[in-house]
Amino acid sequence: MTTEIIPLGTTSAMPTPTRHLSGLALLHGPGMLLFDCGEGTQFQLMRAGLKPYRLDAVFITHLHGDHYFGLMGLLSTLALIKRDAPLTLVAPAGLAEVLHALPGLRDDELTFPIDYVTLHEPMTQAVVYETKAYRVEARPLDHRIFAVGYRFQERTKPGHLDVERAQALGVTDYRHYRALKAGEAVTLDDGRVVESEAVVGPPRPGVVFAYVTDTRPCAAAEILARGATLLYHEATFGDDLTARAAETGHSTARQAAETARRAGAQQLILGHFSARYNDLSGLVDEARTVFQNTEAAEELKRYKIL
Ligand SMILES: [Zn+2]
Ligand SMILES: [Zn+2]
Repeated sequence: MTTEIIPLGTTSAMPTPTRHLSGLALLHGPGMLLFDCGEGTQFQLMRAGLKPYRLDAVFITHLHGDHYFGLMGLLSTLALIKRDAPLTLVAPAGLAEVLHALPGLRDDELTFPIDYVTLHEPMTQAVVYETKAYRVEARPLDHRIFAVGYRFQERTKPGHLDVERAQALGVTDYRHYRALKAGEAVTLDDGRVVESEAVVGPPRPGVVFAYVTDTRPCAAAEILARGATLLYHEATFGDDLTARAAETGHSTARQAAETARRAGAQQLILGHFSARYNDLSGLVDEARTVFQNTEAAEELKRYKIL
């Protein structure tokens, strides 16, 4: 199953004519996860050609408005299209109360149940969502208010089946292919036994995606990003405003790159840019002096995680 991410909003605090507030979709097979949901996120989903009913779960990092004010509109739309499947909503404590205070969004008024997974301070680590194919964990970051980062980790996948080799050994039945892929040996009609290892490659490690925003550089960010196939990290400021980043609980592009390098990540995508930067090439250059495989997130672009 392929995994891809689509940044929906890449600005911090204030929208700009060309950049939207925080939101990022992760597609895994037919399912969709949403990380943060700033104002306008549902329009960005539409522009990306993503149907909101595909959503399995939403992960909110913290309760600054630029990260969740789009949730009310999105939930309202899901009720209008009469969604009935449950939706998991992972967020710091306080969000459920905000939503319940709004007419139309109380549990008894929606057409679908919301499974709230509520995170409380203090915490060190929590698995907040899991399926047969992957799990998502949260860890607390270092921001002005309680904020968490997330790590999506796909489970180890079976190795590739070498169909040509299997055919050469006399395997023709699709049920045998399935058994071999599942690691079982099969007995052919003529009595010969074909072992799984003879035709199936070694198990493949799953992909890892880390979503780290908003935060000062911290150990938890690095743990979330450890060995990540792709790290999406905030880079609110450049080197010119390192002191301001520390004051306001944010990171510079260079600090994001330092986290990516220390964590042994493979690829870094920067986001959550201050509205003062029209041209992002300076931030990318600063990050690349530390971690070469860096780019600035482009809204609506699909990034495959391989
Ligand atoms: Zn923010
Ligand atoms: Zn914030």
